[in-house]
Amino acid sequence: MGVFGRGVHRICAVVAAATAKEAARQVRRALRVTSTVELRLDWLRSDAERTAFLDWLRRSRAARRANFLATCRRREGGGEFRGSPERELVWLARAKDAGCRWCDLEIETLRRLPKQALRQNASLPRVLLSLHRFDRTPSLSKATLGNENGADAVKIAATARTIADSIRLLRIARGLKNLVAVPMGEIGLPARLLALREGSALAYAPVAQATAPGQVSLEQLTSLYRAHRLTGRTRVYGVIANPVVHSLSPLFHNTGFAVRRVDAIYLPFLVDDLRDFVHAIPELGVRGFSVTIPHKQAILRYLADCEPLAAQIGAVNTVVVRRDGKLIGSNTDYLGVLHALRSKLRLRGSRVLLFGAGGAARAAAFALAHDGAHVFICARREGRARELARVAGGEAIRRSLLRSTSFDAIINTTPVGMVPRQGASPLAPNELNCRVLLDMVTRPLETELLRIAVRRGIMAIPGVSMFFAQGVAQWELWTGQRAPRPAMEAAVLRQLRAEEASRKRN
Ligand code: NAP
Repeated sequence: MGVFGRGVHRICAVVAAATAKEAARQVRRALRVTSTVELRLDWLRSDAERTAFLDWLRRSRAARRANFLATCRRREGGGEFRGSPERELVWLARAKDAGCRWCDLEIETLRRLPKQALRQNASLPRVLLSLHRFDRTPSLSKATLGNENGADAVKIAATARTIADSIRLLRIARGLKNLVAVPMGEIGLPARLLALREGSALAYAPVAQATAPGQVSLEQLTSLYRAHRLTGRTRVYGVIANPVVHSLSPLFHNTGFAVRRVDAIYLPFLVDDLRDFVHAIPELGVRGFSVTIPHKQAILRYLADCEPLAAQIGAVNTVVVRRDGKLIGSNTDYLGVLHALRSKLRLRGSRVLLFGAGGAARAAAFALAHDGAHVFICARREGRARELARVAGGEAIRRSLLRSTSFDAIINTTPVGMVPRQGASPLAPNELNCRVLLDMVTRPLETELLRIAVRRGIMAIPGVSMFFAQGVAQWELWTGQRAPRPAMEAAVLRQLRAEEASRKRN
């Protein structure tokens, strides 16, 4: 067991607020989830607020059952406190009086204090000595992280600029009992969670506002990722993309794992350099992953084998990592398009227009042609439309002809209409001469194009229908089980509707 306990008690909720009142409110929220709570005294806007908050803490019954860790980080160490190192120690000692069992002391402060200061200072609670590097991951060996200077535990928080950086931090955490490893930044996010599996004594999560780059909220860390349940046996999946922050896939897949009680986690990997990710697969223990923009084509060169259809399409959106470490690719976008359309249309012999000629259009063109549809492709670069038509067995069509041509279905495969430019439509109303319209855009749920289609009496299919179908196929491929589809869909729809409501309010 680590120094802060086990299970959910290794999730440290971070309370950071400008006023004592708000900080107290956050403490109450935090304690509903975990008993380990960091109090960022440096975020309180004045000494008066710090005093008021610690008075509240001393009186509150909360302090008796919780494991509070006080932090009053100075600016030099990346915090908000403007006082001297001596003043920092005064606040940490007051925090001990108020019931805090631990304090976080940054190495910059320790260096300014006389040698042996910690050992001789009985007024401080137990010390977590922290080292922050916001610009990079430093080269540190376990030997340099011994509990010198009287610290009871050591924390190293460093920005991961590559996945290899995150792995270096994970290696440090492995096997050391009193160490907290915190890879920071969006690239470091998966490792921030996986550090718990490697033995990090804590993972931090803000109750409200993030206090460090790449933090995941307390709610997400415990409910969505169930990070406190990670063990060496937990199977790791994820999505590789750039950008990845808006991906709905973690919510979709993790909901499936939670409902079916599969010991697995699905993480968002921000991947800039594909080779960096592929090299990290064995050490991160990744068993499968989704691939999206911009890696769908580039991933092909790392595969040991590829499903024939995906090879023909020339794009892979799903990878299974075999036990021998070999990567096997497939394309479930293909199934997604067919699933979204089949219930509305008999595809054999139907006329389907694809607007756009990128990766998703490629999967759709092959899928529809394979199912016997006559595929038309219209793109702003006519050469790309002609090229796709040639390889997939379709017909390129000029934009100027759309007003006078009718189709059974039209599919928008461009990102036009996606948030934040949700007011835009890729096609004008008089270019929509069809019975069925599928808009591949998933955010917002109701795009401008779908609205126009409904006004024209066209059957409108939102992008999430395709997203659900391709995602279910991935989930089932990885787990070998039937996906709990209704729960997975409901979680994503709830999220999209909440986003829509919040956009309308602002
Ligand atoms: P991509 O490879 O980048 O292709 C995008 C296509 O859209 C290209 O043909 C591009 O033309 C065209 N385009 C971009 N902006 C345009 C504009 N303003 N006017 C006209 N054409 C424009 O991307 P992708 O992977 O195919 O993805 C396309 C969209 O489908 C994205 O929104 C993606 O999220 C969505 N998608 C959804 C699902 C789902 O499950 N619902 C699955 C896959 C993809 P140029 O080549 O001239 O730039």
